[in-house]
Amino acid sequence: MFEDINDLYQQVILDHCKQPRNFREMPACSCSAQGRNPLCGDKLQLFLAMEGDTVKDVSFVGSGCCISKASASLLTEFAKGKTRADIETMFGQVHEMIKTGKVVGDVGKLAVFAGVYKYPARVKCAILSWHAMMSALKGGNQPVSTESEQN
Ligand code: ZN
Repeated sequence: MFEDINDLYQQVILDHCKQPRNFREMPACSCSAQGRNPLCGDKLQLFLAMEGDTVKDVSFVGSGCCISKASASLLTEFAKGKTRADIETMFGQVHEMIKTGKVVGDVGKLAVFAGVYKYPARVKCAILSWHAMMSALKGGNQPVSTESEQN
């Protein structure tokens, strides 16, 4: 049973890795932020178009491992149409889930990353796009690095 769920999760991750959604630059964005994970070599840039407190459009470009790309792809799918507060709440839930495997509340499709905590080297890959998102929402154009994260 668990094996089947893991297979399904892996398929979703592979699908988003091979065909990332919202994978494009956004020249007319409201804000953008870069994220880097030097341990793995993941690099991405996230673009946001805001309307008040709501994400009207979101996209990203970058290169990296499958987990980091799939995470960014699923994040952009989740974030479109959400408010800043929605995203901050989900960041808390996803961060906890990726680090501990504990799923709190309804994380939707992002549950595919619930197994990442078993692979500590991959935790930073999975959380990278979320750090970039939080930085972009704050309007900070400072690149964020997973190596400055307080774990
Ligand atoms: Zn990675």
